[in-house]
Amino acid sequence: MNPPGRPALALSASDIGDAQELLVRSCEDCACPPSGGESERAEPELDGRPLVRTPGVLELPVDAEHVALFSPSGNGGVVVLNTAARAIFDLFTRACSPDRAMGFTGGDTVLRKLLAHDIVHPLGAPPSQQLPKSHELTAWLHVTNKCNLRCPYCYVHKSGESMDSDTARESVTALVRSAVDNGFTSLRLKYAGGEASLNADVLLGLHEYAVEACTVAGLKLSAVLLSNGVAISRRLAQELKRLDIRVMISLDGIGEAHDAQRPTLTGKPSAARVLTTIDKLCAEGVPPHLSITITSRNVDAVAEVVRFGLDRDLTFSFNFFRDNDCASAFTDLQYEEQALLDGLRAAFGEIERTLPRWSVLGSILDRGQLLRPRSRTCGVGDDYVVIDQRGRIAQCHMELEDAAGDIRTTDPVLAVRDPARKIKNLLVDEKAGCRDCTWKNWCAGGCAVATFRATGRFDVRSPNCDIYRTIYPEAVRLEGLRLLAHAGRTPG
Ligand code: SF4
Ligand code: SF4
Repeated sequence: MNPPGRPALALSASDIGDAQELLVRSCEDCACPPSGGESERAEPELDGRPLVRTPGVLELPVDAEHVALFSPSGNGGVVVLNTAARAIFDLFTRACSPDRAMGFTGGDTVLRKLLAHDIVHPLGAPPSQQLPKSHELTAWLHVTNKCNLRCPYCYVHKSGESMDSDTARESVTALVRSAVDNGFTSLRLKYAGGEASLNADVLLGLHEYAVEACTVAGLKLSAVLLSNGVAISRRLAQELKRLDIRVMISLDGIGEAHDAQRPTLTGKPSAARVLTTIDKLCAEGVPPHLSITITSRNVDAVAEVVRFGLDRDLTFSFNFFRDNDCASAFTDLQYEEQALLDGLRAAFGEIERTLPRWSVLGSILDRGQLLRPRSRTCGVGDDYVVIDQRGRIAQCHMELEDAAGDIRTTDPVLAVRDPARKIKNLLVDEKAGCRDCTWKNWCAGGCAVATFRATGRFDVRSPNCDIYRTIYPEAVRLEGLRLLAHAGRTPG
């Protein structure tokens, strides 16, 4: 039934080697959504039951011969079909026996992919979304309140205070105990500030202590340094490599655009120093992840950072500016919706020109992601703890002043889970405007703190809603292009 020489072809992330390692998340400077990658997919059974197309499946043209499919009511992942495979998919517009597909060359593989990605389902058994349960406790360790930059969008009320080594050890001890007591199996530490590298000795000491404490407690440990990239020495880069601490560098432009929103304490440019640091980290074998914060000042420069990252094979993620008390004096940071979309489209164009092997589904959508369904935007109030330089506990790094306890007297996880705390990180179904949304279990309604700031309510959809709805389909298409470019090829 296929046109001559054109077997039916279906591609998915599993056709690219090391697929799990290629999932990049945009949560480095935020609480991650509940842990876990794209759902592990068991090889589906074709047991002869009739199959039917899942309602709501999105179909986006990738090029003249291929479409990308994504099922919002499924468990994630994109499938690309060629024209012959698309004809197989069409068979299931109405319930139909899988045998019908077997007459096509490649029909068996196509059908298994469609079934595995919830694009078709057995008649009477629609997909059920597996919302992940957290097994990883993430902690933001605010190792210093000092910073050598003065970024206008920063939410930290800076001071000269840093965490001392006693507080650092007590914090780790409290986190490890709390992780075990509350049933977590891994701990993820984010070394942050201020500028965390300004307190490098305490940071490195606390990490070595965390390695020991997690080993004794049977917890897996991972760690990332969140840095502005201005002051990372070669020695520190080598220590980060030795200790397997990942690095995230904030880079908002390649020159003036970065300097316009990331000046030094004395108002001088910082971009050149950051770019030197990035080269240094790459040379030492610690390629950093780039975190791009988008405001009205750099909205036109996002594409150039993306180009910079793609040229060096660095991963990157986008964070939209979130208003806060410290930023309120800078009235020119809030982006216009259309300007943001134009800037994002220019960046997407760069991605399309040089498709990375890694998937952008988890990193270019601000707080949204299309890797795995979830019912809350982030882990605030559940599996995310912030500890400041004095050992005080908070729910979110954007609300550091709202102390929920102290690591010396309070279980950190129980403290952030206290229902009386300020931030209400609601289920997406509790947010007006989100309940009937196609994207609800991929977006989850946006950042609770940002929505509250903009609307005075937690129970409504994100002020970025229209932007999100516009860019999610574009990310599906980019994922389709990535699959076409890299599936079945060895990295070159
Ligand atoms: S914020 Fe908008 S895009 Fe996100 S879940 Fe709610 S309605 Fe959907
Ligand atoms: S509440 Fe918002 S700022 Fe805080 S961790 Fe969640 S997404 Fe990030």
